[in-house]
Amino acid sequence: MEYRTLGNTGIKVSRLCFGSLTIGPLQSNLNLEDGARIIAYGIEHGINFIDAAVLYKTFPYVRRAIEITGRNDIVISTRSYDYTYEGMKKTVNEALCALGVDYIDIFGLHEQEDIYTLKGHSDAIRYLSEAKAEGKIRAVSISTHNVAAVKAACKMPEIDVIHPLLNIKGIGIGDGNVQDMLSAIETAKKWGKGIYSMKPIGGGNLIPDIESCFKFVLDNPNIDSIAVGMQSKYEVMANVALFEGKSVPSDVKEKLRTTKRRLLIDYWCEGCGRCVKRCSVGALKLVNGKSVVDQSKCRLCGYCSTVCPQFCIKVI
Ligand code: SF4
Ligand code: SF4
Repeated sequence: MEYRTLGNTGIKVSRLCFGSLTIGPLQSNLNLEDGARIIAYGIEHGINFIDAAVLYKTFPYVRRAIEITGRNDIVISTRSYDYTYEGMKKTVNEALCALGVDYIDIFGLHEQEDIYTLKGHSDAIRYLSEAKAEGKIRAVSISTHNVAAVKAACKMPEIDVIHPLLNIKGIGIGDGNVQDMLSAIETAKKWGKGIYSMKPIGGGNLIPDIESCFKFVLDNPNIDSIAVGMQSKYEVMANVALFEGKSVPSDVKEKLRTTKRRLLIDYWCEGCGRCVKRCSVGALKLVNGKSVVDQSKCRLCGYCSTVCPQFCIKVI
């Protein structure tokens, strides 16, 4: 496993970051021990970087995985939607407690959109800067699906790390295309920001092209690490192999090929109906203002995800 330093933070991370969202209650909802053992398996195979968020409710898995491995050098990144000083202070202290650690490596603002949302979070950023000075956190981050937020964060010295959405097809980019995002990331790197990208396989929608998807982000010199959601030891085995430039063992490939997957429509669906129109097999319909999938009709082609403006549609 290759390790890189995140921008100017001095924090050294594996290029493969374990995205914990997939094991938690919002997606696979694995029991605590099973989920933690999958993260621990990743740690035992070279991953030293775990991505979490208050929203994901995955702190117990992360804590238990660290207990299982007995490691005290695992880099944790998490974030919240808090925008006030006091709200962020409370959340950081709660996260320290929930994770059972003395400090959190990277703590940030979840889902920033542009300079205006960043300005709206200035009090929360002020607290995070103080928490950094006190040693409660080591770096301040933002996560974003938007090019405008990456550009805006470049010039903010308080922001150390950017966690942008990037994949070969641009699935989920809120305000531009792949080239726009690549160019913003390149600028951010020049400003000394640490970059760890998210959604390299477009929320599972690009799984059939996973090798070219990983190559696309791994070959980019501006990306220090890439968060990938994983929910089984087979996925960890395959992803570690691909990140190390090796072939995936045929038995692992076969296991993944036969893994039963399903379409997930996230709760923030706004019922615009674009996905319903895009699905040619009639697997989607609107019910009470939300898109609902008929799993028996869905072929998991992922086409509907390319038209969703809210990045609600995932294959898990
Ligand atoms: S993944 Fe394909 S088949 Fe399934 S709902 Fe979307 S467009 Fe329809
Ligand atoms: S395209 Fe996205 S937001 Fe619109 S109805 Fe479908 S899932 Fe919901």
